[in-house]
Amino acid sequence: GYHQAIKENRHLYNVLQELRGNIRVYCRIRPIISSSEKSCIEYIGNDGSLMVFDAYKPQNTHKTFQFNKVFGPTTTQGEVYKETQALIRSVMDGYNVCIFAYGQTGAGKTYTMCGPSSRSSEEMGINHMALNDLFQISCTREDIKYEIHVQMVEIYNEQLSRLLINCNGTLEIRNCSGNGGLSIPNARMQIVQSTSDVLNLMNWGDKNRAFGSTAMNHRSSRSHSVLTVHVHGKDISGNTIRSCLHLVDLAGSERVDKSEAMGDRLKEAQHINKSLSCLGDVIMALAQKNSHIPYRNSKLTQLLQNSLGGHAKMLMFAHVSPEADSYGETISTLKFAQRASTVELGTAHQNKESNEVRELKDQIDNLKKALTIKE
Ligand code: ADP
Ligand code: MG
Repeated sequence: GYHQAIKENRHLYNVLQELRGNIRVYCRIRPIISSSEKSCIEYIGNDGSLMVFDAYKPQNTHKTFQFNKVFGPTTTQGEVYKETQALIRSVMDGYNVCIFAYGQTGAGKTYTMCGPSSRSSEEMGINHMALNDLFQISCTREDIKYEIHVQMVEIYNEQLSRLLINCNGTLEIRNCSGNGGLSIPNARMQIVQSTSDVLNLMNWGDKNRAFGSTAMNHRSSRSHSVLTVHVHGKDISGNTIRSCLHLVDLAGSERVDKSEAMGDRLKEAQHINKSLSCLGDVIMALAQKNSHIPYRNSKLTQLLQNSLGGHAKMLMFAHVSPEADSYGETISTLKFAQRASTVELGTAHQNKESNEVRELKDQIDNLKKALTIKE
């Protein structure tokens, strides 16, 4: 009876969260890589609770955290995807969705989003599985015709560079009038028909970066990479759906020691701190329901503006390394994630537009064009 009651309570809590549209937070703990290492993870509950302790100061109190889910070191990629799938699929119904991988370098962010570098099919990351899923839906729905575009952008030192297609112009983020959305004018989007199209493009993008592997590792831990999937659907009567899915592999959250950094490294340290702390500021402003949300303070928050807060659905993966040496960073990641989980978003909003509304908007656009031609 007691356990049943707890289970029902838990279920109710999840349903409420769903309705309130909070930021969902999942914690993922990567396996210990060297077997001689001590762990600082004390307990993982299957109700989303987690207990950590400082293995070097066992007399100190253990700290507990509560998330929507905690994935232990033996969790498979498939199990993680299963808990993410419903959110991802809702993009096809017109919801904007934003998924972040947060955590210190080496904690498993890229593993979750892209899979291990030597890819085998069971270990595909969320990016791959999500695209498979979306293409699958677009093929099976006969009532709606979908178009899917992808864009892959890297933000490094507060500058955007696009990874998918060679582009000479500089990239900047603009407000585009139509739907109040943001766009990157020079980053032409690539239309894709299948997951393998996307994977080919991504590989091409990687080659395009042309860094040595050490430089590449260094840079990938200092930059944010954002894969955006734009979905446009139209049904037989002309009603449309427009939505996007952002899959974000964030820069490492570890504090960079500025006293040791010089020149380029110092610039990097300042920029990383800036964009991650801006993301934190935006999340805090949303949590406090401030009237001003400081999206414009960093490239990352500007780029994701449409999908941060408001009517979007958000999920953050807080990645932690279990080794005793990582205790400090683990606590700071868990605290950040715990704060994020208190943010209540508005009710998620479907970006659907009826045929009539669209025709009226088109008329307005045409009239505006006619006016500017006269001037
Ligand atoms: P990050 O992107 O956060 O810097 P990575 O994803 O590159 O970290 O992970 C660091 C190393 O740990 C990689 O070799 C990766 O394959 C491995 N790893 C991370 N998470 C897992 C996991 N859940 N299971 C097995 N290996 C993992
Ligand atoms: Mg990485």
